[in-house]
Amino acid sequence: MLFVTRLFQCVLVAAVLTGCSSIGHIGRFSTVVVDAGHGGVDRGARAYDGSLEKNYTLDTAKRLEKKLRARGYHVIMTRKGDYFVPLPTRASVSNKQWGAIFVSIHYNDSSRRAARGVETYYYSSRSYPLAARIQQEIARLSVNRGTKRARFHVLRNNTKPAALVELGFLSNPQELKRIKSSRYRDNLAEAVARGISRSAR
Ligand SMILES: [Zn+2]
Repeated sequence: MLFVTRLFQCVLVAAVLTGCSSIGHIGRFSTVVVDAGHGGVDRGARAYDGSLEKNYTLDTAKRLEKKLRARGYHVIMTRKGDYFVPLPTRASVSNKQWGAIFVSIHYNDSSRRAARGVETYYYSSRSYPLAARIQQEIARLSVNRGTKRARFHVLRNNTKPAALVELGFLSNPQELKRIKSSRYRDNLAEAVARGISRSAR
C-alpha cells in the first residue's frame, strides 16, 4: 500500500514538473493569423508616459510574423499599419482560411499600478492547448498570471483554434520599462512563436 501511494505521488510530482502532460495539442496547421490588437482611432491602453498599446502590439506582431515565417508557417496579418480594423473582420480572416489558427497580441492595463505579468486567453476548449502552450513560454519572461477563459469577440467568433495574449502591463512602471525595450519585445515574440509551434501535432 505504501508503495502504491509512493508511486502515485511520484506520478503526480512528475506531471506537475513536466507541466505539459495534460495540456495536449491542437493538431496540424499551416497558417497563423497574427492579430495586432487595436489600431487607428482604437488606441488601446495608454501608458503613463503617453505611449500607446496599438503601437506595441503592431511592433510585436511584426516580430512574431518574421519568427513564424522562419519556422515555415504561412502568416496573415490582420493589420500591417496604424489603421482601424473592426473586430468581426479580424475573426473572419482565420474563419476563411483552411488549416489556420488565430493569435491576438495585446498589452494590459490596470488601475492598480502593482498589477504585472502575462496571461493568455481562449474561449473554445479546442483552443486551450494553444493558449496554454503560449502561456507556458511567455511565463518564463514575466509573472505567470495563467491561462484563462474569456468571451472576447475575436475568440468567441473564431471557428479556428484562437488565443489572445496579454504580454504585460503598460500601467506598471517597471513592466513598461521592459516593454519599451525592443529586445524584450523580441523575446516576447520568440516565446509566443515557440508556444505556437509546440501546440501543433
Ligand atoms: Zn488590448
